[in-house]
Amino acid sequence: MEARKEPETRPEQDARSFDLFQPTDEHRMLRRTLRDFVEREVEPQALEHDRHERFNLELFRKTGELGLLGITVPAEDGGGGMDPIAAVIVHEELSSSDPGFCLAYLAHALLFVNNFYRNSNEDQRSRYLAKVVSGEWLGGMCMSEPDVGTDVLGMKTRAVKKGEKYLLTGRKMWITNGSIDEKTLGDIFLVYAKTEGADGKDKLSSFLVRKGAAGFSLGQKIKDKTGMRASSTAELVFDAAEVPVLDRLGAEGDALMHMMRNLEIERVGLAAMSLGIGRRCVEVMSRYANDRKAFGKPIRDFGQIQRYIGRSYASWKAARTYVYDVARRMDLSRPGNRLDSDGVKLVAAEMGKEVADNAIQVLGGYGYVGEYVVERLWRDAKLLEIGGGTMEAHEKNITKDLSQDVSRGLGE
Ligand SMILES: Cc1cc2nc3c(=O)[nH]c(=O)nc-3n(C[C@H](O)[C@H](O)[C@H](O)COP(=O)(O)OP(=O)(O)OC[C@H]3O[C@@H](n4cnc5c(N)ncnc54)[C@H](O)[C@@H]3O)c2cc1C
Repeated sequence: MEARKEPETRPEQDARSFDLFQPTDEHRMLRRTLRDFVEREVEPQALEHDRHERFNLELFRKTGELGLLGITVPAEDGGGGMDPIAAVIVHEELSSSDPGFCLAYLAHALLFVNNFYRNSNEDQRSRYLAKVVSGEWLGGMCMSEPDVGTDVLGMKTRAVKKGEKYLLTGRKMWITNGSIDEKTLGDIFLVYAKTEGADGKDKLSSFLVRKGAAGFSLGQKIKDKTGMRASSTAELVFDAAEVPVLDRLGAEGDALMHMMRNLEIERVGLAAMSLGIGRRCVEVMSRYANDRKAFGKPIRDFGQIQRYIGRSYASWKAARTYVYDVARRMDLSRPGNRLDSDGVKLVAAEMGKEVADNAIQVLGGYGYVGEYVVERLWRDAKLLEIGGGTMEAHEKNITKDLSQDVSRGLGE
């Protein structure tokens, strides 16, 4: 009788060799490319751009040259053709050096490009996709308003159809990439506005609004932010701004689905930014605790310092595992990841802020100045508890989802 052939790998071997953080050669290569790019191009400019609250447009265009701006757009349409894990790798690596720059990258690549690509038609893609994937144009997404953030369905911006145009009226607040500098608008925006449905009820619709549209202007570049100062944040004004009907994304009333679906990848990207902050802070505090001496010994020998380092490492690793596991399961072609996209951002944002705080404490006075990086990361980390959904919003959403079907999150 012929001996039974053993399978080449046993399931337990597969399970052990599977690398959650870079499962394929493509992911490994991407991380290497990013590490090299960050060391050569990102790190040297980070402190200066934070200090001067300046967005680095030149560096942004270099991410276009690397093919990172359309990372989630299929390759056959001119994008990077990569998955959510790849998006997480990019945000984690950029943020380990310059979260402010990374926020501008996220606003363009995920909030604009990914959202636009998923909801546009052929004609719109042929007119705009190449310009935003290359970085020739800077894009952003306009959801929040001066009086409305978490309660997004209460938005007041309204679009009224007049012939072949819509007229948009309202104000959008806190828009990343809203401006390039104090005077110059970003190039193209995905704007959510209310339209009246056939049943007389308000629905959400999304529109592409370009710099130069009549009635569209820069209200103000928002100055003196706590952190994320290397990204430009602006208030934008729509005063019967003219948008051709051809630049409405999808059908009238479709935009709630656009928004909910895109928020999922946005939150995973923001959670990945906290991972980058956490990793860098663990690295800085561990090295410092080895080198710095007090009372005749390295401070790593003190139990209280060990608590900062040990807890920081473990909570960073736990958050990282959760983020990559959610990214691995995510399918960008459909919604359905809300529970865990809220979950990863909730856990990772808190981790990022606490680990950065621990790093400052371990470094003492040196932690409190820019040169040692962690004070900038600490300031940047705070935004991740607010932007893309506040911590309270994530708690609310998770509770709502679990109250509808508790086995959804716990079933495996
Ligand atoms: C630097 C920066 C960049 C940003 N970039 C963009 C961008 O590119 N595009 C964009 O559209 N927006 C952007 N935002 C806006 C961001 O998404 C909002 O700030 C966020 O959603 C919170 O909204 P809010 O600031 O209006 O706070 P509010 O919603 O007014 O919340 C105030 C407080 O009330 C709490 N709260 C509200 N509702 C509830 C509730 N039901 N239960 C419990 N607590 C509640 C909140 O959690 C918070 O603590 C950005 C913000 C910042 C600061």
